[in-house]
Amino acid sequence: MRVFFGWLLAALAFASLARAAEPAHYDIKASFGQDAALKAEVEIRLPPEEVGTETAFLIGERFTLRQASAPGATVSTELTDKPIGGLRKVTFKFAKAPTKPIKLKFAYDGPLNNPDTDNSGTPWLGPDLLELRLETMWIPVRTDISLQYAVDADLKGVPADFTLVFPGDIRRSGDRVRLHRTLPDVDTPMVALRHAATAKGPGVVFAGPDDDPLVETYRGHATAAAAWLQGWLGPLPFGDVRIVVVPRKGGSSYARRNYTVISRPSAEDPDKAGNPNYGRLIGHEFAHAWWSVAGPQTEDYWLVESLAEYSAGRYVEHFAGAEGYKKVIDAKIERAKGSGPVMPGKRPTREALYQRGPLLLIDLEHRIGRAKMDDMLRALAKDPPRHTSQLLAELERVAGADEAKAFAARLRAVDMPVVQLYAEAPASTVAAASSMESESRR
Ligand SMILES: [Zn+2]
Repeated sequence: MRVFFGWLLAALAFASLARAAEPAHYDIKASFGQDAALKAEVEIRLPPEEVGTETAFLIGERFTLRQASAPGATVSTELTDKPIGGLRKVTFKFAKAPTKPIKLKFAYDGPLNNPDTDNSGTPWLGPDLLELRLETMWIPVRTDISLQYAVDADLKGVPADFTLVFPGDIRRSGDRVRLHRTLPDVDTPMVALRHAATAKGPGVVFAGPDDDPLVETYRGHATAAAAWLQGWLGPLPFGDVRIVVVPRKGGSSYARRNYTVISRPSAEDPDKAGNPNYGRLIGHEFAHAWWSVAGPQTEDYWLVESLAEYSAGRYVEHFAGAEGYKKVIDAKIERAKGSGPVMPGKRPTREALYQRGPLLLIDLEHRIGRAKMDDMLRALAKDPPRHTSQLLAELERVAGADEAKAFAARLRAVDMPVVQLYAEAPASTVAAASSMESESRR
């Protein structure tokens, strides 16, 4: 189960943005009643290229399915435990592939909460927290979990005193919430908190439990990292970013487009003040506002994670100085050695994405100089790269064809190349001092 979740999240996070001219659209009408009873009607509009002669969706088995229909479709259902347990698969078959958009209609009701699938024992909707995500399986999800869609939702029963975080527009009156999102994504994620500390800065909205010193630390970094990174990289290409810390003792952190959920760590950190990793984590997540579009199952995925992690390092240098930055760099050195190539012809390893890739970017900065590095990154940030060739073209523009060729070779090197990681010193062999994991989710 845990292994599966890792895989699922990897597949989902910042999934490829390949999309039709008119994206798929979800229209959700739902209410949360007594004891978190869900009653829902969902209409899914699919462009014909997303349908073919057959399409199938998953929904929690715990719901009673009242309707599943589409014009011209034969509908069948079966129980399934793939990719997670407790699901019902609804298959729509068409005699001939539609040439116009089609609408699938679902109506169902049943308990939103499910002790077997909730977040490490935290209910999806409890007295102080509502957290909905793909794994909740509260709305139909296409079986490949990669359908990109826009969404409108009309929800009743979201307590009026909960602070709501959603990556799109929010309108509220009493316990009724209307949501609208045009940026396509594979999920309709949201968090609502009863006792929230919030912050707003240019391009960022933050929320987390109040009366919590660690959340205060995250909150300060949320606005500071947003301001610093925009000053460095330029305007946000896809709009504002939401960051929310959830008060649950277990379960993972995860991210969707322009939206990050951080699970509050259960262990207290005695070195909170001197630990640059809280700021690094927030900087990393915010940097995905630019670095998010390369396909998660491709070798180009390093453009997402390595660029976000390099950007986070630069933010650490800004707030914690060279010493703080050195801690972050040192923690990567050992782990980068056996990572395998940053571009292995398929999705890179975790260590290649988060450790070696950022080190190669730091090394590149020292080879070509910070001014050229920043020139390259700002150009890329305007039109976030999906393919490594886009980065190499910008590198060639700022530093010449030889640098671009040499960097491409280092990305494909099996052994860790010799690198310069600090402003002055030569290649370092400082032992790793890993403290906090970066992202447990991808
Ligand atoms: Zn990331």
